[in-house]
Amino acid sequence: MQFQKGMSLVELMSKYGDEDKCREALFKLRWPQGFICPECGSKYYCELKNRRVYQCNRCHYQATLTSGTIFHSSKVALNKWFLTIYLTTQSKNGISSSELSREVGVSQNTAWSMKHKMMQVMLERDDEKRLSETIELDDAYLGGRRSGGKRGRGSEGMSPILIALDEKAEEHPQYMKLSKVIGFQSRELRRWRKHCLAPGSKVITDGLQCFRTLDDLGCIHEIKTDEDKKRLSWVHTMLENVKISIKGTYHAIGIKHAARYLTEFEYRFNRRFKLEDMIARLAYAAVHTPPMPQRFLKLAENSW
Ligand SMILES: [Zn+2]
Repeated sequence: MQFQKGMSLVELMSKYGDEDKCREALFKLRWPQGFICPECGSKYYCELKNRRVYQCNRCHYQATLTSGTIFHSSKVALNKWFLTIYLTTQSKNGISSSELSREVGVSQNTAWSMKHKMMQVMLERDDEKRLSETIELDDAYLGGRRSGGKRGRGSEGMSPILIALDEKAEEHPQYMKLSKVIGFQSRELRRWRKHCLAPGSKVITDGLQCFRTLDDLGCIHEIKTDEDKKRLSWVHTMLENVKISIKGTYHAIGIKHAARYLTEFEYRFNRRFKLEDMIARLAYAAVHTPPMPQRFLKLAENSW
């Protein structure tokens, strides 16, 4: 897998090394045309400098740079947030919250929350994307297959997932979708297809029983030939990478939050050729993602 050279730590520090630089960068990302009142849409405002609050001239609504965003009411300095974005996006395998806690200098609990907030931003961002044209699809269980068990049957502590890659380019897939699903019944496959694939897409599978229903779900479904099955496929390669990455970085992940961990991997993969841009892009997505208090963060996510 070819990964581009990302941003160096020195560059990160020169761009987002202190509070003022981060504020300026975030302001431009949130309000590129200048402050707009989140309440009434007016662009006339004054800045209460000592409190770092923007006040709308028309309705007197007061907003801070981060209010109403994923950073809402965070006590953590913005340069620590940017360092978190950097560490989450620039390494191939991500970073665990205990490592993040050491690198950024925040408590483990705060690091967990910061990391999951950034993963939530990725989840909401990638949720809108759909794969199109020719897609290779496979099923798997996160946490490995039950030893001696049959394929397609899970056990407790395992999360059924779908992995899909588009095959637009000749040499390598462009986009990947990693989805936590309830199971592989046709109802769930229908829900997944509607949400993740553009209409009229062609789906290639190994012909496992559960995928036969795809024919009835408005997909053009093609089953791999025996010759194709012998070749190493991208979905299998990527699935191995996901498993190795999750095991290496996190040892084990809470199945409750599997969707977020999968999205983190998917998000980086889908942007692997724009590694340096990923920092500003994730910061942009973050100021356009609504707040997510920790008590909600701790609940299982149900989106893909
Ligand atoms: Zn207003």
